[in-house]
Amino acid sequence: SSAAEGEDKKIWTLEKESELRFEVGPDKSFTVVLLEQSAEIFGVELAVNTEYHFSAGAKVAVFTWYGCKLQTTRTAEVLYVAKDTPMLSYVNTHIQLEARRDQALSKLSKGEKAVGPRVLVAGATDSGKSSLCAVLCAYAVRLGRTPTFVDLDVGQGEITIPGTVSAVSLDSGTLSIEERLSLAAPLTFFYGHDSPGENPELFRHMVSRLAECVEQRQANDRDAAAAGTVVNTCGWVDGLGLELLRHCIDALSIDIVLVMGHDKLYAELMADSEALPDDAPPRTVVKLPTSGGVVQRSAQQRRQGRAARVREYFYGAPHAERRASPALTPTLLELRMDSVRVCRVGGTQLSGGLLPVGQAALLGPTRVSMVKPSHDLLHAVLAVCHPVLKPDGTALVPGEEGGLDDAGQEIADCNVAGFVYVTEVDMVGRRLVVMSPCPGDLPSAYLLVGGIRWSE
Ligand code: ADP
Repeated sequence: SSAAEGEDKKIWTLEKESELRFEVGPDKSFTVVLLEQSAEIFGVELAVNTEYHFSAGAKVAVFTWYGCKLQTTRTAEVLYVAKDTPMLSYVNTHIQLEARRDQALSKLSKGEKAVGPRVLVAGATDSGKSSLCAVLCAYAVRLGRTPTFVDLDVGQGEITIPGTVSAVSLDSGTLSIEERLSLAAPLTFFYGHDSPGENPELFRHMVSRLAECVEQRQANDRDAAAAGTVVNTCGWVDGLGLELLRHCIDALSIDIVLVMGHDKLYAELMADSEALPDDAPPRTVVKLPTSGGVVQRSAQQRRQGRAARVREYFYGAPHAERRASPALTPTLLELRMDSVRVCRVGGTQLSGGLLPVGQAALLGPTRVSMVKPSHDLLHAVLAVCHPVLKPDGTALVPGEEGGLDDAGQEIADCNVAGFVYVTEVDMVGRRLVVMSPCPGDLPSAYLLVGGIRWSE
């Protein structure tokens, strides 16, 4: 590679199977243009002569299979070319997944039962899991597949905000270079905490519910079923973390586990799959190398990353004005405390502000309890539930819950419509002021609170 200087602009000539890696420093921005031939970022192809903008904190590789010429503008904190990448083993994995997709599709079109590959990526934090998921999904989409991407990383998830487990059905309209999942409409369950260890039972419950929904969706859509699922997980891989990972593997009927360069985890998951009963569907466990470009993040960077995800949810991605996603118009809404219900799932951290819903005396890890609005709610991120329907088909409204308990439990079992965050708690005027990413009434008066907080 060679670099020619010119007022912050640089031209790079990359050889085949090499990549330009960069990290954008704080308060900086960085631009990449593909001048000749072909290149991709986490599996998504760049268009020629198009400016791609990256904002502070972005850590990216522009990879080329056949060689290319790039231009970069402005400086990045880290900026270098690497010839040693694991992309060949990633594309080989992709080819094997494609074979399974073809098999599934041909069975399905004969009316037989089949599902495509259900892949789960496991490994320590910062081992390149999310990046591999992105590459595998993008390669599948480039071939016209519609895989389901499931993100179980409640700390650093990519689909919506931290504290959630989500699934999204991908197609060519949902992948973009600058924001990985721009136009996707996700299926989201609110777990409420940024670590699965806060309430492991609830985490298991939410993963199982999400898995049921994904299975249902795929049962009704042949292409989605054949394309299969790619699952990203969080980096907690020992003790309870490993137990929870095993639950994810079972709940989502995973048949291929990809382990990012972690010998112990690989051996443990391999032993699990060898111990499966003979009549159980086989499960393959494969070890893949982590890219040397994967950047280790400090605990503080991780916190900042989480805050940035929440900010993006309410305000849109940086540079949103140049992008395909609809602009957000964050709006303050005033809610009367008496006309909303704030609920908490999992009564384990019972405090004075909590009242059991109905007369339920026992608060289990997945039980719903009502939260009396108080200053504790300031800056809390709340999930907004879909309307809870009564047997007659009309929506339940706060104050008329007869069989309180059932309604409450239903709330915990449903995917959520979106999120708001509390900007003001007015105990005298009995009102909450919340920020919503778009104007208009909330879909229901039922809100879920967990431990996720955010302030500007
Ligand atoms: P994990 O999901 O295991 O935590 P990620 O895939 O998110 O790991 O990778 C950690 C960070 O490294 C991310 O910011 C990602 O964008 C960055 N990264 C991954 N691969 C590369 C690469 N080849 N070059 C530069 N940065 C990379």
